[in-house]
Amino acid sequence: MRILITGAAGFLGSHLSDRLLADGHHVIGMDNFITGSPDNIAHLANNERFEFFKRDVSNYIFVPGKVDAILHFASPASPNPQSKSGYFNLPIQTMKAGALGTHNCLGIARIQNARFLLASTSEIYGDPEVHPQAESYAGNVDPVGTRAVYDEAKRFAESLTMAYHRFHNVNTSIVRIFNTYGPRMDLEDGRALPNLLKQALLGQPLTVYGDGSQTRSFCYVDDLVDGIVKLLYSNEHLPVNIGNPVEMSILQFAQAINKVTGNQAGIVYEENSRSARDPQRRQPDITRAREILNWTPNIDLEEGIRRTIPFFKQKLGLE
Ligand code: UDP
Repeated sequence: MRILITGAAGFLGSHLSDRLLADGHHVIGMDNFITGSPDNIAHLANNERFEFFKRDVSNYIFVPGKVDAILHFASPASPNPQSKSGYFNLPIQTMKAGALGTHNCLGIARIQNARFLLASTSEIYGDPEVHPQAESYAGNVDPVGTRAVYDEAKRFAESLTMAYHRFHNVNTSIVRIFNTYGPRMDLEDGRALPNLLKQALLGQPLTVYGDGSQTRSFCYVDDLVDGIVKLLYSNEHLPVNIGNPVEMSILQFAQAINKVTGNQAGIVYEENSRSARDPQRRQPDITRAREILNWTPNIDLEEGIRRTIPFFKQKLGLE
């Protein structure tokens, strides 16, 4: 297949590019580098099955030749208010990538008769009142809350995707991605894993926000990519959660990072600057992914951290 990936220079987009190239496909990558990095795709420069266009997908996009599938992954995604690359500091671009970017990609999918895959998010569940989150749960999102620019853009993107499916019969799919980590995460984006692993490798105490009792469920990137590719190759149209269902508190997560890295500096508690909208708990119900895609994650947290460390050491100049 000839596959268009928007956000190809991002954390997930670049791993998807690698995997789809390894599967024998031709990949057309697009990115405007507002949060992605040329470093993430530098190793593909001489791959003759990889083409790259620097584009903002919220503007009209043209792709020469046949396109068989489109994966729309372009979007800022970090919720850290301090981070330059987080969506708090890119609110309009975030809404445009989710709304106009999705519209442009669906337009291409329609004329090209291509399979479309939308990167959606567990954030569409907001601060969930139902636990764990199954795809049937409609979520708890405040449209004017501080995370709304991301959450509502992705909710709009899901609605638009289903509209193109139901009204134009486009072959669409929607993946709801839960917390994911691994090599090529942006060390400066302020998320839990980059912050804490960086601190641990530098021998500093890990900053846990609030009392650390809020929970997340972290999936290693290779597992996630495998689930997404299975969804791409399937005929499923309704949303599918992809994530690791092993739930833990952020405190436990920090302790695991200290253990794997051998960091002796411990943990410090900091005020949670993310406002009241930092979701208290999050865990995917992956029954649908298991049944429809025959997918389950199989890399546990300690193994995933070990696989992530070399990239972080290299970025920090530690090796
Ligand atoms: N967090 C933390 N210390 C940090 C960074 C994040 O305690 O240095 C917490 C954050 O408050 C949130 C959780 O870790 O409860 C996950 O944050 P992340 O930014 O990774 O993504 P989110 O799941 O909130 O989208």
